[in-house]
Amino acid sequence: MGHGGAVEYLPLSKVNTVVYCPRRFYLEYVLGEAHANHHLIEGHYLHERAYTEPGEESGLWVWSDRLGLLGVVDRLEWRRGEACPVEYKLGRAKEEAYLSDAVQLAAQALCLRESRGIKARRGFVYYHKSHTRREVVFTPELFRAVEAAVVRMRALLQSPRPPRVEVPPSKCEGCSVRGACQPELWRKGVAGWA
Ligand code: SF4
Repeated sequence: MGHGGAVEYLPLSKVNTVVYCPRRFYLEYVLGEAHANHHLIEGHYLHERAYTEPGEESGLWVWSDRLGLLGVVDRLEWRRGEACPVEYKLGRAKEEAYLSDAVQLAAQALCLRESRGIKARRGFVYYHKSHTRREVVFTPELFRAVEAAVVRMRALLQSPRPPRVEVPPSKCEGCSVRGACQPELWRKGVAGWA
């Protein structure tokens, strides 16, 4: 992951964003100020708080040197000796966890294993608005999706321009960077894509 020895870590939470919408990841993280801040803040915490004991209930810092990911497990539950990461989301639950949330949780599991030797077979996403949690089983497919998300993020970091609008309109409702994105314009082709 390093460039001449320096490791550039990506915020684990951005795995969620890039799976949700690669264009959002670009506008929010690659072009946004968040980029520098994330590095600063998360890097700081890595050094300050890297060696919290396993089993701590909340705010557990985890990372993967292999993938260059770094972030926080909101909560780690122990169920009959089995570790289960729990991620909190503001929205409403559907029948299953949203794919972007499931992949983010799988990224946490991967980092838990690599940085702390804790193996989790499943975890939960808690949806605040509906007070419901959804189980996520960490399948090989989900772990592959994590790897793919990291590859995409690194490609986008090198890209001189944002990717096209790839997501259905339903995803754009309530998107925080909608004003900068102008998805309707791009969907109509007004903005002049080749
Ligand atoms: S408005 Fe839609 S296409 Fe644009 S960044 Fe947000 S989710 Fe992606």
